Amino acid sequence: MLTDLHVHLRRDDREATAERHFTAENVERYAEVAGERGIDVLGVSEHVHRFREALSVWRHPFWEENAVDDLGAYRDFVREETDLRLGIEADFVPGREDRLANLLDAGDWDYVLGSVHFLGDAAVDMGGEWDVWRSRPDPDKVWARYFETLGEAARSGLFDVLSHPDLVKVWGPERPRPRRDPRFHYELALDGIAEADVAIEVSTAGLRKAAREIYPARDFLAMCLEAGRPVALSSDAHAPNDLGYRYEDAIELLVSLGVGQIAVFERRERRLVSLGWET
Ligand SMILES: [Zn+2]
Ligand SMILES: [Zn+2]
Repeated sequence: MLTDLHVHLRRDDREATAERHFTAENVERYAEVAGERGIDVLGVSEHVHRFREALSVWRHPFWEENAVDDLGAYRDFVREETDLRLGIEADFVPGREDRLANLLDAGDWDYVLGSVHFLGDAAVDMGGEWDVWRSRPDPDKVWARYFETLGEAARSGLFDVLSHPDLVKVWGPERPRPRRDPRFHYELALDGIAEADVAIEVSTAGLRKAAREIYPARDFLAMCLEAGRPVALSSDAHAPNDLGYRYEDAIELLVSLGVGQIAVFERRERRLVSLGWET
């Protein structure tokens, strides 16, 4: 059985409006491609920062620009007009855990994806004015802070899945790399991950980025598996054609690490289903 749970019904720019993309026709385009690619369980997980309600959690200027949609309307559309699983991609913002919990309580989510996109006000995956690399920081400090924050996100208990768990590598050779062995940095997240009942996302989105690598790196995934964590498989699609992107590579990675099951979610209950490949 294959899943794609980390899916956006639109691109990340503001021209991609809810009015044009939260429609039965658009969902049909996604469902058709998912069917062709053998994806049995399809869910959507729009970015929390596209919704006005997100400003009750954090008022980052980028969020202020983007928070124009209504969270309840998104939930109602998915529940009433589609058979998609209902998810949301929520940022972990240290110190704002209670506010995020309040926002999440307002929805009957099948699952909540937890992402670390920001370190303070700076973003790890955005070019331009919010780019964390703009101030020429020490790359080991950026990686250490990223993985410490990821561990805190796991420990917060707010999330069912940790998304793109080593997103800090997104730029690949286009940004400085840490001097230390990356495993030193992975370790910083590991206590939090080991203590939390959270699934680790294996995402093929990194293969579409300059990183040219699945999230997470093989060594990091092996450490999470060692800590007893289950895996959730997704593409982080932002268009129908991204669905199931290069899943053969993800399956090869999972099978090589002895993973034969992946997570599915319903009303925040996790169940493991067979991937259907021998390990
Ligand atoms: Zn993300
Ligand atoms: Zn995403």
